[in-house]
Amino acid sequence: MDLILSDIHANLHALRVVLRYAKRRAIARYIFLGDLVGYGAQPNQVLDRIQELKPRFMVRGNHDRACAIENEDLSFSPPARTAALWTRERLTREHLRLLRELPTGLLSVDGDYEISHGSPIDEDAYLLTPREALRAFDTFSSDLCFFGHTHLPGAFELDQARGTLRWINLQAGEWFYLQPGCRYLINPGSVGQPRDRDPRLSFASYDVARRRVKLHRMPYDCNGAAKAIRAAGLHSHLADRLSHGI
Ligand code: ZN
Repeated sequence: MDLILSDIHANLHALRVVLRYAKRRAIARYIFLGDLVGYGAQPNQVLDRIQELKPRFMVRGNHDRACAIENEDLSFSPPARTAALWTRERLTREHLRLLRELPTGLLSVDGDYEISHGSPIDEDAYLLTPREALRAFDTFSSDLCFFGHTHLPGAFELDQARGTLRWINLQAGEWFYLQPGCRYLINPGSVGQPRDRDPRLSFASYDVARRRVKLHRMPYDCNGAAKAIRAAGLHSHLADRLSHGI
């Protein structure tokens, strides 16, 4: 089983719950779709935990880039920009190097499927509409790509025989089987800052052999994460939004 994790955003409280879940299971590969840091108050602790897993497949997110690279043009909202600068000042040298060396998507996972942060060709581009998804399907060749960035879990399904494209709201806790003749762009949602009005953390597992994916939603101590953000002096909006899932 592969674990697909995106948009952790330095939220150690949420990541801990995911790792507790993973510990009881046989995880073949840990897959990270970017935005490991930014917004949250515990970037070094989160990167330590991720490094312990020795993941082979990670792509860079726009926040990873903004937090690690100086003189980066930050077209962020003021709270996000302040958080990126705050993070950059606190990251250890080793963690800065880790973030700077992250590859950009599109990245192949042992030829089994592909991963990206935003759209497959642009880590900054949001995949929200069918039109954007349709364009994205043209930019990769395999039949499955996991992506993040929007913090909204679900799947675009392109049925090649019928020529139809639909958005599927994956049901948490239930296996979704990939259909032959269809191609997929699947978003596991965000571990550290869910935005679908459900404050529970979100991630996915993928069973390569049986071609099935499961969305997981779990409660975590979002008040603890919010408290850490306030204590760090980061913008209170970043704390408040966690309990609302926005
Ligand atoms: Zn993000």
